[in-house]
Amino acid sequence: MNHPEARTIVFLDRDGTLNPDPGYIPSLDQFQFFPDTVSALKSLNDREYAFVIVTNQSGVARGKIKPTDLDDIHRFIEDQFKTEGIPLLGVYVCPHHPDDGCRCRKPEISLFEQAVKDHSINLDRSYIIGDSEADIKAGKALSMKTILVRTGNGRLTAKKLAEAMVESDFLGDNLTECIEFIMRDRSSA
Ligand SMILES: [Mg+2]
Ligand SMILES: [Zn+2]
Repeated sequence: MNHPEARTIVFLDRDGTLNPDPGYIPSLDQFQFFPDTVSALKSLNDREYAFVIVTNQSGVARGKIKPTDLDDIHRFIEDQFKTEGIPLLGVYVCPHHPDDGCRCRKPEISLFEQAVKDHSINLDRSYIIGDSEADIKAGKALSMKTILVRTGNGRLTAKKLAEAMVESDFLGDNLTECIEFIMRDRSSA
């Protein structure tokens, strides 16, 4: 796994991290990035790094999001990243209901394991950025550095984690601050 060509990954949650989270996003016309999403991700300009999106989309199992509409949203994200020169290795989705007991809904880690199988990834040096407890817990289970962003549900999550005495490695007000943390962190490594 720690092959010399292996890349360091910044795993990204989707809703509340890259884009506002109104609950469910049923179609592409309801999807938009936060104003700083593209500029923040572009600023991590280092060939050793790439992004992977891991997202829980229980709206599919709940019948609120059609799989074809979800695919359209992810194709849009992939196209935008490509246009902007942002390296994205993949979008990994859990479409299941929380009650399904699947192995892929974060904080479960099978989507991350699948990404590691699909790509050459240096997990020990990787990061996760998300706005939910599930993101931070998955990151900790995989011994990655965890970054909580205060957008989306992040403010509420920060309180919940503090109550549970769980600490993320960094808490940022927005994605820009989170990426700045990674750049500082890698230069001190
Ligand atoms: Mg989220
Ligand atoms: Zn699942």
